[in-house]
Amino acid sequence: MAAGSAIQIPSRLPLLLTHESVLLPGSTMRTSVDSPRNMQLVRSRLLKGTSLRSTIIGVIPNTSDPTSDCDDLPNLHRIGTAALAVQVVGSNWPKPHYTLLVTGLCRFQILQLLKEKPYPVAEVQQLDRLEQFTNGHKSEEELGELSEQFYKYAVQLVEMLDMSVPAVAKLRRLLDNLPREALPDILTSIIRTTNQEKLQILDAVRLEERFKMTIPLLVRQIEGLKLLQKTRKSKQDDDKRVVAIRPNRRISHGSITEDEEEEEDHDDVVMLEKKIRTSSMSEQALKVCLKELKRLKKMPQSMPEYALTRNYLELMVELPWNKSTKDRLEIRAARIVLDNDHYAMEKLKKRVLEYLAVRQLKHNLKGPILCFVGPPGVGKTSVGRSIAKTLGREFHRIALGGVCDQSDIRGHRRTYVGSMPGRIINGLKTVGVNNPVFLLDEVDKLAKSLQGDPAAALLEVLDPEQNHSFTDHYLNVAFDLSQVLFIATANTTATIPPALLDRMEVIQVPGYTQEEKIEIAHRHLIPKQLEQHGLTPQQIQIPQVTTSGIITRYTREAGVRALDRKLGAICRAVAVKVAEGQHKEAKPDHAEVGEGEDCKEHITEDAKPESISDTADLALPPEMPILIDFHALKDILGPPMYDMEVSERLSQPGVAIGLAWTPLGGEIMFVEASQMDGEGQLTLTGQLGDVMKESAHLAISWLRSNAKRYQLTNACGSFDLLDNTDIHLHFPAGAVTKDGPSAGVTIVTCLASLFSGRLVCSDVAMTGEITLRGLVLPVGGIKDKVLAAHRAGLKRIIIPQRNEKDLEEIAVHVRQELTFVLAGCLDEVLNAAFDGGFAVKGRLEHLNSKL
Ligand code: ADP
Repeated sequence: MAAGSAIQIPSRLPLLLTHESVLLPGSTMRTSVDSPRNMQLVRSRLLKGTSLRSTIIGVIPNTSDPTSDCDDLPNLHRIGTAALAVQVVGSNWPKPHYTLLVTGLCRFQILQLLKEKPYPVAEVQQLDRLEQFTNGHKSEEELGELSEQFYKYAVQLVEMLDMSVPAVAKLRRLLDNLPREALPDILTSIIRTTNQEKLQILDAVRLEERFKMTIPLLVRQIEGLKLLQKTRKSKQDDDKRVVAIRPNRRISHGSITEDEEEEEDHDDVVMLEKKIRTSSMSEQALKVCLKELKRLKKMPQSMPEYALTRNYLELMVELPWNKSTKDRLEIRAARIVLDNDHYAMEKLKKRVLEYLAVRQLKHNLKGPILCFVGPPGVGKTSVGRSIAKTLGREFHRIALGGVCDQSDIRGHRRTYVGSMPGRIINGLKTVGVNNPVFLLDEVDKLAKSLQGDPAAALLEVLDPEQNHSFTDHYLNVAFDLSQVLFIATANTTATIPPALLDRMEVIQVPGYTQEEKIEIAHRHLIPKQLEQHGLTPQQIQIPQVTTSGIITRYTREAGVRALDRKLGAICRAVAVKVAEGQHKEAKPDHAEVGEGEDCKEHITEDAKPESISDTADLALPPEMPILIDFHALKDILGPPMYDMEVSERLSQPGVAIGLAWTPLGGEIMFVEASQMDGEGQLTLTGQLGDVMKESAHLAISWLRSNAKRYQLTNACGSFDLLDNTDIHLHFPAGAVTKDGPSAGVTIVTCLASLFSGRLVCSDVAMTGEITLRGLVLPVGGIKDKVLAAHRAGLKRIIIPQRNEKDLEEIAVHVRQELTFVLAGCLDEVLNAAFDGGFAVKGRLEHLNSKL
């Protein structure tokens, strides 16, 4: 903005008193306002005013506003700058204050102070304009010479800076385009000057004087720059070190500490250059880095971009462009590691070994990405870790749950403040090699948002055809990901985007049976917990019956995570006892040990000689090992959380047990029905999805059409089951949304029980989709469902005939403990669900003969 432009400032101006800095016409300043008069000015003038005129204020330098508005005003500086308030930002912290952004327009001189409160207002005279009109013509020649000289120095100074920096190029253009008389003010506010010098320039009302005073300042700046460039050059010659051109600001004020700091920075940049040149980055990356380094050297350190560029270069140097670990893959050893780390999971281990074997033979990693799908706590993550161990590779887990921004994967462009690389590049930086095992955890929980679809970004990462030139937005150069071994985990495939699923080979990891859990607990979880709590098997003993008790009464899960936590709780409690015992070890009571050994045999509910509850008596040290029996369990974990409630709930007609599949594993589900007088309405509760509602309608229709055949009547004795009757079907655990067709057979059985008045067998569970003609269609998740039924202690399981093949996946001992009924139609389901069958033939013949 040119001083003395067409803007005519008002003759009365409210005054803002400043003392920390000096605003010159044509420049912009940010100033903090917290003294009473200045605050009043902002509140009642700037924030309330509506016209452009009301945003023009007079900024008086070198005058501080008194801290109380009762105090008198100090002497005001004679000359000030009329300014436009461009922005007002208020804040209450740490005390109420405003931050004002003001742009200087022109000089003015105070003629008379009109009022002091609530804020000072003065009658003023605009100065810059007068100067031009009066003196402008007279000394044109002299001024012309002066301004020419000034212009030359200004150009020389600007050209000493790096013209590739956009701000410098812009300044160079401004020099040509701005009116000459505006230049002294503008350049004074740009170059390094003290407040005192700025004040002198402000006070220099005559343009000629201003030019004369500014030229020495420019010359000083130019000399300083020259000196700096000279030192830089000589250093370069000495030992080929490169020194960044420092911001010229420091020259006039360089104290010793600043110099040292500068020196350090030089060294850092030199080191950085060395690292860049010696790193093994790709040619393209090296080119980009050297270009950025060149820019960095010429950048003033105070520029925000300086830190940004430096961080970028440091990341580029740190990335493992060519650094990798050597694979030591031996299938036999891999099998041993997998077997040692994990019990059971035979199918998964077999597939992983196949995958590794192919890798060994083919020496490259192209191929589908393995994706382990199963309930939580079944060991998906820990198998991933074992794979890394068998290969001798680094392991890194990337949690994708809830990630909804594609820049999380692919990074932010460097133009953003706070931009950073994505998780893939960050992970590589963390592990420091380019061939780690990356575990993409919870790919089914990726979310979408306005910031783009992270799944789409993952596509490129996972595609072996593309990922050798993965370009992170932050790096902006390609990085080769083809050596990285990606493994994904998920709880369900339903929510994995199809395109992503297409690139992965899904391996189902089902839940564990009770026996498997006991084995896992004793082989892996208990030893791990003991170690974590600093206990030894000589101090604590958890017999298998106790583990089994924890599994059935304190946990209900497909995996072993809750079991692990409960074991942890037990170890913590025992650790306290042991620590207390050690405290009293000064007088150990050896006689107790033998007794403790004895009691290991008694692990019944009433055997509690040295259980932890008894050791509550702190007068005696606890006997070792502390045996965890049911009493101790109750003491530590509280009363059992789950009861074997199945038979109780089947004590009246209209209840049946179904089997459901959830991403957390299989579950048993009670379906309840009741009938009441009404108008033939069906009410469904328990947060059901559309498919499940349709199953309920199908079930009722089928039963209505077969009511006579089965002799089913409603409360009024009618074969039309909905005649004057309402039916209510409820699926407990109403807070959980349920959907899917597999509850069909359960609903039919439950209603058949309601209308026949007979009880469904208490140890039967069922699953299967139904059709209107009474056929039973296959459903998914059979293994998880069967395991859930087994966990709940049920004995007979009705599954669709066409699901027979799925039974092979179930462990033999589980299969032996259960009876499976393979049903092709609903008649068979009902026959199996009721004691003595639900056959109607005999009764029908009987009825027929009667008729
Ligand atoms: P997920 O990733 O499937 O949710 P984790 O891999 O985190 O489950 O497993 C939870 C814990 O259970 C881990 O400490 C793991 O070692 C243990 N675990 C799970 N399955 C097994 C198994 N078959 N053998 C040994 N430990 C297991």
